[in-house]
Amino acid sequence: MKKNILVIPGDGIGPEVTTWGKAILEQIAEDFGHEFTFDEALMGHAAIEATGNPLPDETLEKAKKSDAILFGAVGHAMYDNDPSLKVRPEQGLLKIRKELGLYANLRPILLFDELLNASSIKASILKGTDILFFRELTGDVYFGEKTRSEDRNTASDLMIYHRYEVERIARKAYEAAMQRNKRLCSVDKANVLESSRLWRETVQAISKEYPEVKTEHMFIDNAAMQLIKDPKQFDVVLTANLFGDILTDEASQIAGSMGMLASASIGDGTGFFEPIHGSAHDITGKDLANPLASILSVALMLEIGFGLKEEAKVVVAAVDKALKEGFRTNDIADGTTNPYNVLGTKEMGKLVLKFIAQTAYTN
Ligand code: NAD
Repeated sequence: MKKNILVIPGDGIGPEVTTWGKAILEQIAEDFGHEFTFDEALMGHAAIEATGNPLPDETLEKAKKSDAILFGAVGHAMYDNDPSLKVRPEQGLLKIRKELGLYANLRPILLFDELLNASSIKASILKGTDILFFRELTGDVYFGEKTRSEDRNTASDLMIYHRYEVERIARKAYEAAMQRNKRLCSVDKANVLESSRLWRETVQAISKEYPEVKTEHMFIDNAAMQLIKDPKQFDVVLTANLFGDILTDEASQIAGSMGMLASASIGDGTGFFEPIHGSAHDITGKDLANPLASILSVALMLEIGFGLKEEAKVVVAAVDKALKEGFRTNDIADGTTNPYNVLGTKEMGKLVLKFIAQTAYTN
């Protein structure tokens, strides 16, 4: 298979982790006889520094021409500390999602048994959890009108949804539920928000097209609590942009760390594959970033983006093997980890790469 892949490393730990995502893709191409060609582009703070624009036209053009995008993260401490800065790294990310029509963000909560004790939640509550989140990505307060009064003392963000936006992601989520355990929980705040009432009414209408799927509606406040109390009750969770942002960070603690969770953003064109974590300034340049979320994003690219299920399985199996053999990065190590098995970003990346190469050799 021939594919053009655009790598956008971004800022902070982005370049440190995407290096390994790309290396894994090169190894898979070699082992399975695919032809993956790579290009690279700027986004976020790195792009602002180089061009003044968080999403340069050149990046957008390359993105539109590519078959898939491997992204790291954007962000820099200077913007976090100064909310008044008008040109900001995350504008690049929001714009590319909008321009590529990436309306559905899929976040699987993949729980490796070896990491049951890395979570702050009891292993007995976590074991067996397998959730697929569908977070809407192109609507909500992120894109609604933003205002600030002349005296600067009042501000508002418009929470806005159109019916077609809810319909298209609901269908994707129901299709996924049909392939899984046929349960879908739609999360909203329909007791308070008009946009949530539109959300619920639309999901109720779409649910009629999928009578085999058991649909449940839950308020966001309850869902945030249930996710910690009994995560196994969920199969597919469908929710809006803001609620999904918050719930999936919470859910990352089920998987042990932000450094373990991958995501796929899809629409009708090029797919965008990225870890859910940000640029993590606190650990940038220290060889402490966990590269497994980026590596697992590559597995999603292979499976969802290219339909290469076998190749995706090999990547996940290599991550599993590294964990089974007791290797950890700092963020997922616990009191029982042998200190000699705590690896830096580079060593963990190399280890997974070695296990993938060994799988190909033994096959
Ligand atoms: P963050 O995800 O960057 O970090 C949160 C915590 O998790 C930090 O303690 C960090 O060290 C840890 N962490 C994250 N990824 C890790 C990994 N791979 N390995 C080990 N530990 C990891 O979130 P934040 O601190 O809220 O934000 C930092 C910056 O990232 C901000 O500028 C924010 O705007 C940006 N951000 C970007 C994205 C994105 O590009 N998709 C997403 C979220 C935040």
